[in-house]
Amino acid sequence: MDAETGAIVPPVHITTTYLRDPDNQYRRGYSYGRPDNPTVRQAEAVLTALEGAASSLLFSSGMAAATSLFLALPRPAHVIAPRVMYWGLRKWLIEDAPNYGLSVSVVDSSDLDAIAAAVRPGETRLVWIETPANPLWTITDIRGAAEIAHRAGAWVAVDSTVATPILTRPLAEGADVVMHSATKYLNGHSDTIAGVLSFAASETLFERSVAVRSRHGAILGPMEAALLLRGLRTLHLRVNAQCAAAMTIAQHFARHPQIADVLYPGLETHPGHAIAARQMRGGFGGMLSVRVKGGEQAAIAAAARVTVWKRATSLGGVESLIEHRASVEGEGSPCPPDLLRLSVGIEAVEDLISDLEQALTANRGLQ
Ligand code: PLP
Repeated sequence: MDAETGAIVPPVHITTTYLRDPDNQYRRGYSYGRPDNPTVRQAEAVLTALEGAASSLLFSSGMAAATSLFLALPRPAHVIAPRVMYWGLRKWLIEDAPNYGLSVSVVDSSDLDAIAAAVRPGETRLVWIETPANPLWTITDIRGAAEIAHRAGAWVAVDSTVATPILTRPLAEGADVVMHSATKYLNGHSDTIAGVLSFAASETLFERSVAVRSRHGAILGPMEAALLLRGLRTLHLRVNAQCAAAMTIAQHFARHPQIADVLYPGLETHPGHAIAARQMRGGFGGMLSVRVKGGEQAAIAAAARVTVWKRATSLGGVESLIEHRASVEGEGSPCPPDLLRLSVGIEAVEDLISDLEQALTANRGLQ
């Protein structure tokens, strides 16, 4: 609420600059719109509370948030990244990060021994994990990874986009930074691109990230911050509904004759189920993938026939989306060619199931 007017929805501050005090100071804490905006700060305060963080920084996208954190690391820097992760960031880490003085080791982060073998005490600055991770929903034990990283003097950052702060609070599990593509569940309405970093402590890494954001101008605009605040008001309702529907869909298609495998951390058959059950509270997320019998062509054909699900990239919105993920990720991706990624929205779950059923049934001749 706005204290001055009583407006239930706070105003959007679109100013680019702020009045200086007569004695040349900026006592109100705002000088220029690139580093400072009250609407952005308000959204950051909500995210800080949701993550149990010391402070948060919003960015113009999830990619801007993630890359800013890597660029904020003291150099030289060795970093560890998971084999299964958001493909766009993996591509940046492999192709671009070395040009910025970062050396990258890619490991199977679901195996803590693999992380332990890759960390170089005194050299590794950051262990990056994503859990559940795109598009196999691989689970990483945040607490275990944090213990290994901290012993080696490294920080741990978690891309928690899919878990959301409703299901997992990585800072409480020992992580130093949480990152979200706020484009996804936090906003939830497929109408804003944004990213956020939330920090356990307002120290070195936070201060260096503030500088990177301001100097690179990787900021979120106030209108986008206001849309994000609107989306955040229903985060818990959306996520709880999406988790329940995803579980129903996963259980239904786990026994389906046209489906070879269902990848969902909520199923006991998923290799990360036991860790997910401890680390995620209240549900296993709204993302799952199905492997379609008949291979790549059968998967693409099934996606072509849906009408309730929408064929589109992205995730976490109220509309259910379906995507042939290997077509997006290309070479070097661990994504199998027969995989369809499903982002479960808030439509009636029976409609989602019957739509996918009819799309798969027509595949029978393709096996
Ligand atoms: N992390 C995950 C898990 C994502 O799914 C995405 C986008 O798809 C990103 C990061 C990048 O976020 P953005 O598209 O907001 O830059």
